[in-house]
Amino acid sequence: MKQSNNCSRSSTTSPREKNSTFRKKRKPDRNIKYRKPYIIPRENQSSIAIEDFEKLGFSTRRRQRPKNEFKKKIMKATIFSWLIDVGIVQEDVKIFSMDEKNKGKIKRDGILCLCCNKILSVANFLVHKGVICDKPYENVYLAYKKDFSLLYYMTKAWNKLEERKWRKMNVIETKDNASDFYDDACMICADGGILMCCEECNSTYHQVCMGVEDVPEGSWYCPYCVCKFCAEPAHENDWLLDCPQCRKRYHWECHQMIEQRNLDLNSIPIAPFCLRSCKEVCDKLARNMVGKRNELDEGYSWTLLHHMEDGSRMFIEDKHLRTMCNSKLAIARRLMEECFEPIQDSANFNRIDFKGFYTAILEKDDEIISVASLRIHGTKLVEMPFIATSEAYRCKGMCRKLMDAIESALCDLNVENLIIPSIPERIESWIERYGFCHLDESMKKEIMVHNTLMFHDSIIISRWIIK
Ligand SMILES: [Zn+2]
Ligand SMILES: [Zn+2]
Ligand SMILES: [Zn+2]
Ligand SMILES: [Zn+2]
Ligand SMILES: [Zn+2]
Repeated sequence: MKQSNNCSRSSTTSPREKNSTFRKKRKPDRNIKYRKPYIIPRENQSSIAIEDFEKLGFSTRRRQRPKNEFKKKIMKATIFSWLIDVGIVQEDVKIFSMDEKNKGKIKRDGILCLCCNKILSVANFLVHKGVICDKPYENVYLAYKKDFSLLYYMTKAWNKLEERKWRKMNVIETKDNASDFYDDACMICADGGILMCCEECNSTYHQVCMGVEDVPEGSWYCPYCVCKFCAEPAHENDWLLDCPQCRKRYHWECHQMIEQRNLDLNSIPIAPFCLRSCKEVCDKLARNMVGKRNELDEGYSWTLLHHMEDGSRMFIEDKHLRTMCNSKLAIARRLMEECFEPIQDSANFNRIDFKGFYTAILEKDDEIISVASLRIHGTKLVEMPFIATSEAYRCKGMCRKLMDAIESALCDLNVENLIIPSIPERIESWIERYGFCHLDESMKKEIMVHNTLMFHDSIIISRWIIK
């Protein structure tokens, strides 16, 4: 086995020319203050969901507020607060429903009704004014442009955000001029050192983390670059298909073999999904879950959101619902930014695939209180890299409310395990209060083959989803 001794960061030769799968990687500097440019293989750039990609810009460390920031008013995670900060509407602008006598004023928390001086959510404002409708944002208008409903401003704010993200994406450094193609950290433990490099993508692994006793002589392929059924890489003049739900890859022939075994006369083909269970999960999410508001007790509700692009399976045709979901995604992201420190290492940005994230939100009266991000790798495994609660609602059982809701949804999807990364200080509380436990050998193996997010400062723990 050939092993390169020079630090790979200074190497400019392409990985293929090196003809070695085993290279010495520099141990990542944990105190790095700058952010390395995101490196994404060029061919993947257009397919990355920006919302999801950007969400990965956090570490699991909670943000420490500078002392003077405490004096500032705590951010409200509401539609109006977002629209005001994006510069789309101004505070105190008059807003009305149907006829102009029913006026209110825009406040960060909601609508200040001018007849009773109470702050109300958009839906409650309409009820208060005797307007019955199921699309509240389409039924309130801003005083200075009477033909446009609030929905128009929400769409405008979302488009502005999307445009900015695309502009940012275009300055991303590609692998051709990047100083180092490979990740600096192991995909399993997120630490540096001597790492095995995949022949196909930019991920790297410790030999021990992969449980590989002898480093292979020739090319070595990581778990994402091989077929999920036969563990072989793509054949010559052929490529691996990509399952839209679990994101695992597979040979068409291997998929056909499995399918023929299961096929009964009435069943329909499931491609491009790798397995029937993946198609079922995706169908359930699209049909019954994404964008659907679920009422809880005491006026709380929870919703599962997903970044929707044209042509995606999760695309919601109804414009009111779609705009509402997009706006809430934007607000949920702001809440995450408030709660977590920006990520300080580049490893998570270099991962080969950022698609497939879902966002669960807990709400009360138009305000988002808790947020969690989820990725469903199939029925065996779901990961939840982030969960955060708005500052004003911490230590009030909100995290528990959202966790219970997520768990019941995962139960409906027939998911078996939920994994989370936890900082060492919080592990005991996850274990005692939420029933998590340390990973056993079979879970470790399961995680090894999935593209989960790892952080330097955290440990992965898991929880069995009880039926
Ligand atoms: Zn009133
Ligand atoms: Zn490792
Ligand atoms: Zn690979
Ligand atoms: Zn195969
Ligand atoms: Zn699949």
